[in-house]
Amino acid sequence: MSKYAQLNNNLDSLSLSKIKEIIPSYLDNKTNESKPLVDSLIDLTNAEITFRDERARRINITVSSFPYHKTLSDFDFSYQPTIHKAKIDDLATLRFMDEKANIIFMGSPGTGKTHLATALGIEAASQRISTYFINFAELMEKFKRASKENRVEQVVKHYLKYSLLIIDEIGYLPVDRDASYGFFQLIAARYEKRSTILTTNQPFSRWGEVFGDPVIANAIIDRLVHHCEVIKINGMSYRIKDKNIFEEES
Ligand code: ADP
Ligand code: MG
Repeated sequence: MSKYAQLNNNLDSLSLSKIKEIIPSYLDNKTNESKPLVDSLIDLTNAEITFRDERARRINITVSSFPYHKTLSDFDFSYQPTIHKAKIDDLATLRFMDEKANIIFMGSPGTGKTHLATALGIEAASQRISTYFINFAELMEKFKRASKENRVEQVVKHYLKYSLLIIDEIGYLPVDRDASYGFFQLIAARYEKRSTILTTNQPFSRWGEVFGDPVIANAIIDRLVHHCEVIKINGMSYRIKDKNIFEEES
């Protein structure tokens, strides 16, 4: 076996796939010929580390199950003046997570709630923080089933493990009382332990109807808002930005 083949075998055995990929061009590059061995080893191992970090970042974003890949740089703050860019930029530092604080985006449809929640989630997932995005109706369906099967605790335990949990679209559909109680248990378990981002089209005054019980709704709100940034968005839907649907026909 040639020495080059042996080197390739060793790189395979050590799973150093990036080094294996770049070695031919690295060896062909004349500027590397006179490099001290230590410098070359640093170059090659740096390339492997960068590749692995990027791969882990991508995997972590994929397993977080975001509805789409949108970041803060895709967000047009001038379209939604009630949202302060400086505030969102501060949230994007993820400092709120150190304080185990929550974020609630509240506003009518199309105002960018899911986009902003996703963008903050992608920021966290990029930093290899365990993050999960779930639709509220889907989560409530899980609690409803779990409640029938006597395994609410297991569901709570499962969603407790994420350092950042994003629950999207509270309030579009009213929910069953058993599911509401499961949801309360989850919020109570995450309280002061883990951060949660929620989006809703309903003000707190309507959460009693959403959860089918004002007492449970109050208990949920109480835990959520104790350490929380509530971002109220008052504006037009971005979905109808270029459509003059409210203009009188002439
Ligand atoms: P909702 O408030 O109903 O959750 P979304 O965040 O899903 O709304 O926004 C609806 C669509 O419009 C998405 O594709 C989102 O990326 C886009 N969007 C909303 N607001 C803005 C904005 N200010 N700048 C750029 N895109 C936006
Ligand atoms: Mg949404």
